[in-house]
Amino acid sequence: MILLLIREPCDVDVKSARIIKPHEPLELQQLEIPKPSGVQVLVKVHSSGVCHSDIHLWEGGYEGLDGQVLKTTDRGVKYPLTPGHEIAGTIEDLGDQAEGFKKNEKVLVYPWIGEGLCPACRRGEENLCDAPRSLGIYVDGGYSEYVLVPSYKYLVNIGDDLDMDADATLSCSVLTAYGAVKNADLKPNDNVVIVGAGGLGLMAIQLAKALTGARIIAMDIDDNKLKTVKEDGGADEIVNSKKEDPVKAIMELTSNLGADAIIDFVNASKTVEADMQFLRRRARVVLVGLFGGELKLSLVSMPTRAYRLIGSYTGTINDLLELVSLAKRGVIKPLISNRFKLDQSTEALTMLKNGKITGRGVINP
Ligand SMILES: [Zn+2]
Ligand SMILES: [Zn+2]
Repeated sequence: MILLLIREPCDVDVKSARIIKPHEPLELQQLEIPKPSGVQVLVKVHSSGVCHSDIHLWEGGYEGLDGQVLKTTDRGVKYPLTPGHEIAGTIEDLGDQAEGFKKNEKVLVYPWIGEGLCPACRRGEENLCDAPRSLGIYVDGGYSEYVLVPSYKYLVNIGDDLDMDADATLSCSVLTAYGAVKNADLKPNDNVVIVGAGGLGLMAIQLAKALTGARIIAMDIDDNKLKTVKEDGGADEIVNSKKEDPVKAIMELTSNLGADAIIDFVNASKTVEADMQFLRRRARVVLVGLFGGELKLSLVSMPTRAYRLIGSYTGTINDLLELVSLAKRGVIKPLISNRFKLDQSTEALTMLKNGKITGRGVINP
């Protein structure tokens, strides 16, 4: 069901697909086109990636302890909201203090914006800000013809040689994979297990392959995804954890030593319980996925086995600049599998939720 507001549309209107209330179909609304002032920039959206976290925004929460729902509104999300944080487009208009960019230039938007003053922001880690203002989560994002970016400093020039649909995914899915690979601190000959061979897993495998000397073991329950990461990502080994015991399989593949690092893109109780049984002493366990649930830990094994449990959330704008340069050199090749129009936003989210999108879906407003 798509509702249009009754107000007469005029040429200064912007069409946006918005979540009015959790669980309800997104509404196509006509909003007034924002006029950028000061350092703000107005970007005409060409591509906006459809991300798993958009589903959580749409459902209004995440699974927490004892099956309790962690509400998005308790985290400061306000509805109605235009989702979309993987945004590539062209500059439409600039405020009078926005420097270094010009009209019609192709840009990627860094969406993990902070308030600029907390210790994380001051270190350049705005993605970990105490009071985040992320686009498409706390502020209206890219499921729209235009998006207002608070400052030119969140734009990355991508030039003409990159595909905008594929490039849009750099700012969340690829950035998250990159941040996780960095947090795993991989050394040559490390055995790293990548849990979840979907879009993020594939990117993490490509990045780990290109940038570290680690041996990569991909784990999933879907043979088609495992085949893709072996052929397109360069995974050294694959394990189907539905068909074989994941702990036994990893111990066999690592001469009974266990994994030096694990990056879990699912992060559900079941996957992390298995992770904790095949980690080697000193291992880094990087938890990324937002599936949720809970975990029982043996406290004494933390010091005796000296492993590190690390939460990883997206990446910095500097990481994004590095990724754009890696993409330009062909080191990573994001896969776009589905394209949608703005009025198909609900369909895009439903397909993603039902596991019907194998690579990445993008909306082209
Ligand atoms: Zn995302
Ligand atoms: Zn901050």
